[in-house]
Amino acid sequence: MAERTRFTLGEEQIPRAWYNISADLPVPQSPPLHPGTHQPLSPGDLTPLFPMALIMQEVSTEREIEIPEPVRALYAQYRPSPLVRAHRLEKALDTPAHIYYKNEGVSPAGSHKPNTAIPQAYYNKEEGIRRIATETGAGQWGSALAHAAAMFGIEVKVYMVRASYDQKPYRRLMMETYGASVVASPSMDTAAGRAILAEHPDSTGSLGIAISEAVEDTVMRDDTHYSLGSVLNHVMLHQTIIGLESIKQMEMAGEEPDIIIACAGGGSNFAGLTFPWLGQTFRGGRKYRVIAVEPEAAPSMTRGRYAYDYGDTAKMAPMVKMYTLGHDFIPEPIHAGGLRYHGMSPQVSLLRHEGFIEARSVHQRPCFEAGIQFARTEGLIPAPESTHAIRAAIDEALVAKETGEKKVILFNLSGHGYFDMTSYQRYLSGQLEDYEYPAEEVKHALEAVEA
Ligand SMILES: *Cc1c(COP(=O)(O)O)cnc(C)c1O
Repeated sequence: MAERTRFTLGEEQIPRAWYNISADLPVPQSPPLHPGTHQPLSPGDLTPLFPMALIMQEVSTEREIEIPEPVRALYAQYRPSPLVRAHRLEKALDTPAHIYYKNEGVSPAGSHKPNTAIPQAYYNKEEGIRRIATETGAGQWGSALAHAAAMFGIEVKVYMVRASYDQKPYRRLMMETYGASVVASPSMDTAAGRAILAEHPDSTGSLGIAISEAVEDTVMRDDTHYSLGSVLNHVMLHQTIIGLESIKQMEMAGEEPDIIIACAGGGSNFAGLTFPWLGQTFRGGRKYRVIAVEPEAAPSMTRGRYAYDYGDTAKMAPMVKMYTLGHDFIPEPIHAGGLRYHGMSPQVSLLRHEGFIEARSVHQRPCFEAGIQFARTEGLIPAPESTHAIRAAIDEALVAKETGEKKVILFNLSGHGYFDMTSYQRYLSGQLEDYEYPAEEVKHALEAVEA
């Protein structure tokens, strides 16, 4: 029998607690600030937006936070997700490296996002909330939340970035199938949306604008909470289920990774895979090379500034210390829509700033090239976002080939690309363009950021 390919755990091995990196961070996080007063937020400032359980998780320094049974029960519909050794990709690359990937594409929404959507819907339901407003970029967060809310009987209103609304009708239909109502952002439904449309009637939107709309929707109503699919500490926390499982699965494989890789938009799938490994390092364990991969068109960690900035365009969301391209920055409508955000998780940003992780940016064409090589060897069609991680994994495997070192590479396949075939079509027909790093626009947007 050849070497093993899939490393699977039984559902009784779904972790019982998430891992909170705040317990082990070598440097404390800077507090979030109120967008109006610029004073540190108190938990009470967040109660109009989030249930208390999530607010407490946001500020908790407990290392382990128990996963509620109803959440574990829903996780069991698709978790533990498989860890797979990419034998055929290794062979095609003729590399001595061993490549493993964690496949988060097996969830109902097809990405890692249900890992946080499910607990967020659960805690809102527990607090008696009947409706949730949110934004979505590529549609993956919206479909994950629509699914989770359907499981708990909660209504959902999704502000979907215009560029994706037009490019990805099937994502919208998926949300509607789960019962959510979806509007293109900027929309006429909020003052923030109307203001943008008055100035830019053809606006393709941005996550920053869509967040402003969802936050405004929330604060205007009593029965509604807001929900964010990335960036915040509690989202990073929920996603650690990925890395915790991967630690057990790499043990089954009898190997330890030298290099751990994930793509980064707001940082959640990256945090999810890597934080449990980094936690081991911080508690005195071995050091790993940990690499976050972002698009050249929205390179917050590689070209942005580490500063306090607003989470949204209309300056309604709290200010957090993070790598940012400026809250006014609107990235080109690249095909990895889930990576089009001006900022980055404060926890991921801190780790980058302190030198515990590396960041690199890549153009979308070489990413699709890597995605297609992956599809033709491993058989799975990756989400455009995930192709960024695949690009870096392949590049590291090619370095190992040069040097003859037997590196072990672990990356996160954050989602499948079955709703992204139009993007593949553009690539295959030679119509997919690379955007240069928009230096002037970033410079302009950063002028609006108080250093
Ligand atoms: C949303 C999304 C991302 C980017 O979000 P992160 O919070 O950075 O993980 C990456 N991959 C897929 C498949 C996504 O849906």
